[in-house]
Amino acid sequence: MLIQKSENTKELVDNLNYAQKVERSLQLIEDAYREYGDNLVVANSLGKDSLAVWDLAKKVNKNISGFIVATRFFPQETLDFMEQELERFPELEVYRNEEPIPDQLYKKDPDHCCELLKIKPTRRAVEEMDVDCWVTGLRCTEGRTRTDYQEIEERDKGLVKLNPILLWKEREVWQYLALNNVKVNPLYAQGYRSLGCAPCSSITTADNERAGRWQGTSKCGGECGIHTRAIKIEKRLEEMVN
Ligand code: SF4
Repeated sequence: MLIQKSENTKELVDNLNYAQKVERSLQLIEDAYREYGDNLVVANSLGKDSLAVWDLAKKVNKNISGFIVATRFFPQETLDFMEQELERFPELEVYRNEEPIPDQLYKKDPDHCCELLKIKPTRRAVEEMDVDCWVTGLRCTEGRTRTDYQEIEERDKGLVKLNPILLWKEREVWQYLALNNVKVNPLYAQGYRSLGCAPCSSITTADNERAGRWQGTSKCGGECGIHTRAIKIEKRLEEMVN
């Protein structure tokens, strides 16, 4: 798939209107699905951005599948919402890592906690679902850690990552979800703007959309690692050997 690097992401974020962005996102998914077919899979975090991407993907083709990485620390509201989503979309596969981990690892070493509970199951999903192209809800206006991405990337050799709503603003995500009657996690009604595991998600009034993630740690406003670490297993083995 053609990797685009020449376009100015910031200009596109500001200059494309809502309808143009939706059209562009649908086109990106359609082109990728034509190329990868069933090896294209949506990573659905159950957050608002993933839900928009999941809805867009289903508009492109109802057969597109997806996976959810769930952790033992999901809030009850998210677990309930996940069950409802699984009833609506039984084709969603759930991956989790249930191995024992040190008590309160999320406080002592959140990077390691995310590595075990989020990145490991993501790698397994990509491996077991035979994914050549994974589709995410990453957006470049979400916060300081998300400005340096492209709509189509190949950070892992042999694994394309499609970020079809990279250019959308937070308001445009909510616009899409409202206009398309997409159900969302009820925690958003309490004031959360970015959702993850219970111990690592807070309600804030900060401008940064992800400011409520990992508050009080060095990871505050940061990343769990699925967008920054190697996901394809072969790639990691190569790295260890070299
Ligand atoms: S978000 Fe927090 S609880 Fe969840 S895996 Fe990461 S560090 Fe652990």
